[in-house]
This record gives sequence, C-alpha cells and structure tokens, in this order.
Amino acid sequence: MPFVITDPCIGTKDSACVDVCPVDCIHPRKDEPEFAQTTMLYIHPDECIDCGACVPACPVAAIYDSPDSTPASQKTLIEANSVYRAGDAGAVAQAEEIVQSHVAAHPDLMAVPPTERAAAHAK
Ligand code: SF4
Ligand code: SF4
Repeated sequence: MPFVITDPCIGTKDSACVDVCPVDCIHPRKDEPEFAQTTMLYIHPDECIDCGACVPACPVAAIYDSPDSTPASQKTLIEANSVYRAGDAGAVAQAEEIVQSHVAAHPDLMAVPPTERAAAHAK
C-alpha cells in the first residue's frame, strides 16, 4: 500500500520528503520543470516501497502511510497522487485539477495554516 501526500503540503511544498526518499518516487522535484506549476507534491503509488522515511521528514504531517489510513476529507487526493506523472503534461494537469477541486471543496481546511491542517483532518 503506497504512502499518500495530502493537503498540508499545499502552501508548504518544501521537498523535505524528496530529500529522504530512497527510490525517488516523490515528484515533482525542485529540479523538474513541473515544480513551479504544481500546488503540492505526489507519491507514485507503484514506485513507493513503503519505507516510511518521508513521514517524519514532513514538517506538516502531510503524509499518510496508506490510502486506507488517509482521512475521509483527503480521499480525493489519493487519486491525485495516483495519476501524477513527471513529464506527462496531461497527467500533471489531471492531478492539479483534482487538487484544485479539493481546495474549492474544503475552504475550512484551507483557512487553517498548513502546520495545523493535519490536526484538523480528524475533525
Ligand atoms: S514511504 Fe519511502 S518510498 Fe514511499 S514515498 Fe515515502 S520515502 Fe519514498
Ligand atoms: S515534506 Fe511534506 S510539505 Fe514538504 S513537500 Fe513533502 S509532503 Fe509536502
């Protein structure tokens, strides 16, 4: 079961997870052209080896250890992680569309600072 990045990454996007991932499955990296276009980062579900290294590295607790453990308010972002592919403009746009829909659907969460957003997921 792959790990999943959720909405505290929005407004944070510091790439700390990228730096610790042993299999380079978190994108876009800062050196990829898509980095400037994306609202958050994504974990490739087929490449993630479930090592868990990214979780403590994330300063805003944005990463859950499986789709099942991802809170209800964040479930749509599982699909965004799943469809994103570096170098595929269509996939990048599709993932971003899902993220923007999530943002529009959750003004409550977006009003919370990223550092406190994960705590709000359970409410
Ligand atoms: S769990 Fe490990 S392999 Fe998967 S995204 Fe995190 S650091 Fe990378
Ligand atoms: S460490 Fe967390 S906030 Fe930073 S880019 Fe990764 S998922 Fe996003």
